[in-house]
Amino acid sequence: MDSALRVADKKDWIKGATGDWEVIIGLEVHAQVLSKAKLFSGASAEFGGDPNDHVSFVDAAMPGMLPVINEFCVEQAVRTGLGLKAQINEVSVFDRKNYFYPDLPQGYQISQFKQPIVGEGIVSVDLDDGQVVQVGVERLHLEQDAGKSLHDQHPNMSYVDLNRSGCALMEIVSKPDMRSSDEAKAYVTKLRQIMRYLGTCDGNMEQGSMRADVNVSVRRPGAAFGTRCEIKNVNSIRFMGQAIEFEARRQIGIIEDGGSIAQETRLYDAKKGETRSMRSKEEAHDYRYFPDPDLLPLKLDPAMIAEIKQSLPELPDEKRARFVSSFGLSAYDAAVLVAEQTSASFFEEVAKGRDGKLSANWVINELFGRLNKEGKSVEDSPVSAAQLGGLVELISKGTISGKIAKDVFEILWTEGGDPAQIVEARGLVQVTDLGAIEKAVDEIVAANPDKVEAVKAKPTMLGWFVGQVMKTTGGKANPAAVNDILKKKLGIS
Ligand code: ADP
Ligand code: MG
Repeated sequence: MDSALRVADKKDWIKGATGDWEVIIGLEVHAQVLSKAKLFSGASAEFGGDPNDHVSFVDAAMPGMLPVINEFCVEQAVRTGLGLKAQINEVSVFDRKNYFYPDLPQGYQISQFKQPIVGEGIVSVDLDDGQVVQVGVERLHLEQDAGKSLHDQHPNMSYVDLNRSGCALMEIVSKPDMRSSDEAKAYVTKLRQIMRYLGTCDGNMEQGSMRADVNVSVRRPGAAFGTRCEIKNVNSIRFMGQAIEFEARRQIGIIEDGGSIAQETRLYDAKKGETRSMRSKEEAHDYRYFPDPDLLPLKLDPAMIAEIKQSLPELPDEKRARFVSSFGLSAYDAAVLVAEQTSASFFEEVAKGRDGKLSANWVINELFGRLNKEGKSVEDSPVSAAQLGGLVELISKGTISGKIAKDVFEILWTEGGDPAQIVEARGLVQVTDLGAIEKAVDEIVAANPDKVEAVKAKPTMLGWFVGQVMKTTGGKANPAAVNDILKKKLGIS
């Protein structure tokens, strides 16, 4: 669908002084390729290290040095393109984007301009209300990262750290298909999830492995696109949302006051919660792009593309659909489980050959709940998938009640051990012996004649009796049996 045609839901319209407005957003996401070495040199691409520790002569642009393409980075770009269901271009071209900056020793950035390695694709973006929005990808191209100027190391000098210089970036350009800050946030979240599944970018925004240039414009609902402003280098999803909200209202204010929007590059100041001008389009660079004479056009072997396609992992959308169809989960629970690959595999190990819904409940509510509370991730969960699976099995078989299971979970969390053995050794097996339950029921009925009268008029009081029986049996009585016997004895149906 033509990007301009989609009109935002009314709930996303922004009320101005003169009527409703729609915000239009397009994103240019820079994602650092997960790779040991840089795009055109063998230097380490690892985050951190002492300043200028990961710098080869190529990255420092020493005279006579020549770039050599890192095949793995190319494969990573292809993998990402396939994950975005995008066109892979068998021929692409590296260009020089010329500009001067102290942290760019070459005096140009090697990028791809007219012929990127990946063309159009699509990302299904899931919103909180269950709605799915399709966001078009315009292109994905490979380029080098620049170094970093350090202005806080010396009172009157700036230093340059070239560790990042030459690291491979994928620039993923979306179509102007987003209509609210929530959609933009959900898009970046989904993009990051897909790349993490693919193993092509760690998506670590605090370390700068993913950052976004955010293009924002406003229009009357359904009208022609307005002039956009670009907010550069936003490095957190939350800040991006705030920047969009601020910027849309700023633009609406100007237009409603009779002004017009000048196309410009802006910066988001997270401390002040506002965007401010960095440079106008008139001052924009003329990059004098031309094909880099040091690099031949990049030609991909179709067999290599096919091989990568073959080896793609199951991606989040497919995994979620499978969890819904083969484990009977709700779309919501499935989405929670597939948010990260490690959570999804943990769940699958718990649920394998067991009750899927019950497994999902235990993984999401008990395990994730506890992990969140203690600030732990699935990887360092004290309770393993095998242990939790064993526990789920004991519940399914009726060996223990859900209530006792919570106690066993606590023991597994703090002391470890085998769930079946814990239940056995501590005498936690559920009482399904009807005689024993009946005896407990009789005692409570005999001791509480007033309550017995009351429950006849108010059957919801049955819960009180159930609670009493559970108490005297140490929570071990089978709840279904308790209910049945109580109803019979008390004469309620
Ligand atoms: P340029 O070549 O000037 O950078 P592009 O066409 O490449 O422009 O667009 C850059 C980004 O701006 C893309 O992500 C695109 O979706 C977005 N964009 C384009 N037009 C608009 C608009 N009117 N409002 C918001 N975003 C837009
Ligand atoms: Mg652009």
